[in-house]
Amino acid sequence: MRMVAFLAKRIPSFRKRVEAETRKRLAELAEKHRNGTGYWAANGNEKRIEAFYGSRAAYDAIPGWGAPLPVMESGDGPVKHRLSHGYDEMKAVLDIDDARGAAAFRGGRCLSEAWTGDLYESLDWECAFGHRFSMKPYTVLKAGHWCPDCEGPPWRYHEIADRNPFFAQVWTPLHSPSERRVYEEADIADIAGGS
Ligand SMILES: [Zn+2]
Repeated sequence: MRMVAFLAKRIPSFRKRVEAETRKRLAELAEKHRNGTGYWAANGNEKRIEAFYGSRAAYDAIPGWGAPLPVMESGDGPVKHRLSHGYDEMKAVLDIDDARGAAAFRGGRCLSEAWTGDLYESLDWECAFGHRFSMKPYTVLKAGHWCPDCEGPPWRYHEIADRNPFFAQVWTPLHSPSERRVYEEADIADIAGGS
């Protein structure tokens, strides 16, 4: 690779050859492999197109290689603000009202009557879809977990975002309100197995 880089730097015709070959290989990966984006587009794999690009229209709107690069905003992209975790993170010891508030911010409820404030003492919770579960406050508040029944498959993040403001913070800035597709376990079969 060092030799190729050395020659490409000094011999323009060699560089062109390397660039053409690289482009050809990458195009083959994208267009001929079943896990390639170009392959999905050419073969009508709309679920993958929607999951990765939002919609077929958004995919088709991507400009060609010759288009000027967009100006990159400083900062860290669409999600510019610190997430709210639904409770006062500066508070030394939390109480049951903090747990209730955090649950409400996740579209659900804390069902426990009382809490000592021990983050490792399991409490009872209910999610926005009525599933009940027991989980340590640490797991909910610090580790970002929530209802195990709502974990995919099926993956239906838009429905969760509709009811869970905590999750909506990361979903809505990156997804169109019209993106309503549910992904089933079988939806991974198109790229499963082989190489
Ligand atoms: Zn749930």
